[in-house]
Amino acid sequence: MSKEDIVKRIEELREEIRHHEYCYYVLDSPEISDAEFDLLMRELEELEKEYPELITADSPTQRVGGEPLSAFEKVEHSTPVLSLSNSFSEGELRDFARRVYKLAGTGALDFVLEHKVDGLSAILKYEGGIFTSGATRGNGIVGEDITENIRTIRSVPLKLPESINLEIRGEIYISKKDFIRLNEERLDNEEEPFANPRNAAAGSVRQLDPRIAASRPLSMFAYDLVYVEGRNIRTHVEALEFLKEMGFKVNWYQKCTGIEEVIELCNEWAVKRDDLPFEIDGMVVKVNDFALREQLGATAKSPRWAIAYKFPAQQKTTVVKDIIISVGRTGALTPTAVLEPVQIAGSTISRATLHNEEEIKRKDIRIGDHVLLQKAGDVIPEVVKVIKEKRTGNEKPFIMPAECHVCGAEVVREKGEAVARCTNITGCPAQRREGILHFISRDAMNIDGVGPALIDQLLEKGLIEDYADLYALSFEDLLPLERMGEKSAENAVRAISESKERPLHNLVFALGIRHVGAGTARILASRYHSIEDLAAASTEELEAIEEIGPVIADSIVNFFSSEHNRQVIEKLSRHGVKMRAEKTAGEEDKSGFLAGKKFVFTGTLEKFTRSEAKEKVLSLGGQVSSSVSRNTDYLVAGESTGSKLDKARELGITILDEKGFMELLGEQE
Ligand code: AMP
Ligand code: ZN
Repeated sequence: MSKEDIVKRIEELREEIRHHEYCYYVLDSPEISDAEFDLLMRELEELEKEYPELITADSPTQRVGGEPLSAFEKVEHSTPVLSLSNSFSEGELRDFARRVYKLAGTGALDFVLEHKVDGLSAILKYEGGIFTSGATRGNGIVGEDITENIRTIRSVPLKLPESINLEIRGEIYISKKDFIRLNEERLDNEEEPFANPRNAAAGSVRQLDPRIAASRPLSMFAYDLVYVEGRNIRTHVEALEFLKEMGFKVNWYQKCTGIEEVIELCNEWAVKRDDLPFEIDGMVVKVNDFALREQLGATAKSPRWAIAYKFPAQQKTTVVKDIIISVGRTGALTPTAVLEPVQIAGSTISRATLHNEEEIKRKDIRIGDHVLLQKAGDVIPEVVKVIKEKRTGNEKPFIMPAECHVCGAEVVREKGEAVARCTNITGCPAQRREGILHFISRDAMNIDGVGPALIDQLLEKGLIEDYADLYALSFEDLLPLERMGEKSAENAVRAISESKERPLHNLVFALGIRHVGAGTARILASRYHSIEDLAAASTEELEAIEEIGPVIADSIVNFFSSEHNRQVIEKLSRHGVKMRAEKTAGEEDKSGFLAGKKFVFTGTLEKFTRSEAKEKVLSLGGQVSSSVSRNTDYLVAGESTGSKLDKARELGITILDEKGFMELLGEQE
């Protein structure tokens, strides 16, 4: 292929990938399979690896940026991000409408009703159609620069279909389903579960390492157009339709004439909200006409043309019939309350996790107690408190059993730990089962077509003992099992075999090392390049990695020192599971002249644009990050620099002016 053909092919691939990201993440209706999508992505990555000078910031391969930040930079908003005034009743909504009518000098007018999605707001800017920056709301005047984390959200376009300048606001959120899965994974990894999807989204967006944000299932709805150049948009409905055209994900909305229509719909949604795939904590009512909004203006705190309607709190009382225990992958015993089923806003609740023994003690929950139950953040039901007045004296305190109810092994709660564990690490069938389910899960080896029901049969029949045994299964092994047709047996065998080629970080995560979540696994994989090297790492060496503390380091060393684990890994390797990393486009090019060197730019350069300078560094094997940390090798400082320069001085980092930078580049010629 000529260079020209390559440029063309790269552009073609990018367009195609953008289209499929749009179908999948914005429209929720993929046109191709994941495998086909991966193929396109891989072709693009290969080409970009070969021609790093052709990498652009808007390429779909560039969603996960470089190095972790040491802190978020502050950004001042172009327009203050106000909060919304609240209303809690029909009466307050009517009062709002009356105020609007009076100020506008009209009768009934058009409102637009939207869901108040429970996430966190973000302000996004595009220049020439390219995503350039994203910020949190902060205090409304100054927010934090979370550009790199927003880039990882696949429903956020990095490039718009038109080359325009605009600014929008949106809500970053995590869907109910993804939230449950995320928390399950966290529990499995001994990480504190998030209280609700909003905390999970906020916690993810506030990660300094974009690779962690990338591993979280974040989405974004665009809900406001702040500014657009060269377009005459007069109403909110026009703005939302325009945002859709630009490829943003726009949520349900409804234009209503007059407030009574709004009220009717708010009441409907108070019930229907449970059927939505994401959480809402109310509705937002906005005046449709932009000219009218201007006329209405804002108070210091909130615009006069919009109001939030908050749904009433959702709590009910019920009875704890029993407290049961389940054994997790790492042996953790999790108590769950079995409840007298109750309806909370449309859904029936009969279970609530009690997390651990401490939690039960703290709330003094006993079997037989009447409790106040709440759908915290609307997803996981939570026992708020015991209604002690209703006690009869027959309630039974919960006692953590001394033996695992599955395998009979001793249960131990280590000092300083909240969690009690079954100590039979290699032999407990429950731990083994959970370990295998973890191995096949999405962020691990992602083995589609193999689910819990199949794993249970395989374990029962003695066809597998650990996850490595999956790779020895044949079509003939699977066919006689229940609910197995030829097709599904074939699919399962193929899916298992395909998973041998998963990237190293998937494997590191899949091994099920305590405290090693998907994000940590990525960090380890990019540092060690093979399971062998990781297994040989010492605690000191691991602790020297910024993100890795003593607990994780210990757990890793522990894991690899176990004879049983070594054997399972050996078995994986024998079955042909890929145990080392292939260099991918994002990784440093060791042969490059600037290999491993980390650059940060500040201020404006004369001879290059920022992105030209970045590409230059990337093409020579160097890395570019957006803020200065101890790991930075060079700060390239142009005109009118800011806080980065001070920081670099403080850390004693080599500072280059433009001339120095050019000399450095020139050295290789
Ligand atoms: P509050 O935090 O109560 O002042 O409410 C304002 C916040 O509601 C905004 O900052 C957004 O994060 C959030 N929000 C969620 N959905 C919408 C929406 N459709 N329109 C405006 N704000 C919304
Ligand atoms: Zn056990």
